[in-house]
Amino acid sequence: MNNRFDVIVIGGGAAGLMAASSASKRGLKTALIEGNKNLGKKILISGGGRCNFTNLFATPNNFKSSNIHFHKSALKRYSPYDFLDLVEKYKVSYVEKAAGQLFCKVSAREIVNLLEKECLSGGVEIFLNCKAHSISKNEEFSILTTLGEFTARNLIIATGGLPIPTIGGTDFGLKIAKSFGHKIVEPSPALVPFKLNESLLKKTKALSGLSLKVKISNDEISFLEDILFTHKGLSGPGILQISLYWNPGESISIDLLPELEIEDILRFKKRHPKKSFDSYLKMSLPKKFVEFWCQFQEISLSMNFADYTNEELVKIMTNVKCFSVKPVGTEGYRKAEVMKGGVSTDEVSSKSMESRLVKGLYFIGEVMDVTGELGGFNFQWAWASGNAAGQSVI
Ligand SMILES: Cc1cc2nc3c(=O)[nH]c(=O)nc-3n(C[C@H](O)[C@H](O)[C@H](O)COP(=O)(O)OP(=O)(O)OC[C@H]3O[C@@H](n4cnc5c(N)ncnc54)[C@H](O)[C@@H]3O)c2cc1C
Repeated sequence: MNNRFDVIVIGGGAAGLMAASSASKRGLKTALIEGNKNLGKKILISGGGRCNFTNLFATPNNFKSSNIHFHKSALKRYSPYDFLDLVEKYKVSYVEKAAGQLFCKVSAREIVNLLEKECLSGGVEIFLNCKAHSISKNEEFSILTTLGEFTARNLIIATGGLPIPTIGGTDFGLKIAKSFGHKIVEPSPALVPFKLNESLLKKTKALSGLSLKVKISNDEISFLEDILFTHKGLSGPGILQISLYWNPGESISIDLLPELEIEDILRFKKRHPKKSFDSYLKMSLPKKFVEFWCQFQEISLSMNFADYTNEELVKIMTNVKCFSVKPVGTEGYRKAEVMKGGVSTDEVSSKSMESRLVKGLYFIGEVMDVTGELGGFNFQWAWASGNAAGQSVI
């Protein structure tokens, strides 16, 4: 077997498949090596098996990175509509769920199949059950794998991040980057449920399974989304979103009645002086939750509106709109959808994804310090960064 290539891509996930197909179509002899026995395992489990493969409204603001400008160029050159063209070319039926979020109608398998077909049509040689162990560079890159040695002029690292170790989540890409002198932005789990401390958990346990539509915020950002009480703490789209912007030790603020202003309560008092505050809350929030919530309030909430001063009502309503929760941590990489942090953008070209330190070395996808919010943004980054590298290798 001749294991010498123009381009080797390590990692047969979203970014690697895209990069390999783009490079091969430019006439480059390309190999894709994947440690698992199948391609795209993460794609297969994504979006509940239906893969939220892009978001039509993706903008650079939907991504977190130490350099907020880094991802702009690649995202501009490969838009959600470019990936949609591919989806339509293969007649994969899809559906738009929440604003802009496109999911497969039938199965995420169709996305893996179309990417594999794109690779094979360009002549990519795919090696499965082929785990890279170590990499060195003299004239060319030498990659030692479970299937022997491979050499190439260009090496694209598309090994993803640490989440879901059971299907290939690894720090391999970070270690390789470090060994070639790249800085790493401290990685941590993101798009991940929060854990609560034992004493709060005792009180929230009865709420397990309950979801609320709230506005959830920290100093950086707000999301109007559902949150879900779990037996370990908090989850749901709102929690996953804010986890991307959360740092250990910080509190998050939950507005339980986001459609109301604090002053609305005074107008309500005038119209309904005989109504009790807790029954007012129960009009918008589940009874079980209101009973839980009332335990934390200094002022009893069972009195009628007429019996509160305006100042008291404003204070109670301020608490309703600013329920502060301090998670003790996250559920970690086992439950995280992505890793935030990763290979620092400082030493990588935003146009080509090529290392500024080592000629011919590229980093794409989740291994980079670019992380998208929930809603199809992470795959869009995988496609865009994979395309940028695949179009640039020579
Ligand atoms: C449960 C879940 C649901 C998700 N749902 C969505 C969604 O609906 N929409 C969305 O946009 N994002 C979603 N994501 C995030 C998305 O899956 C990732 O951002 C994306 O897969 C990253 O692509 P990647 O190619 O960079 O890495 P990966 O997809 O992780 O691929 C990396 C590949 O490299 C291989 N590899 C690693 N090390 C080696 C080695 N040494 N040798 C050989 N091969 C190696 C791994 O086996 C893996 O196949 C979800 C994530 C999870 C965990």
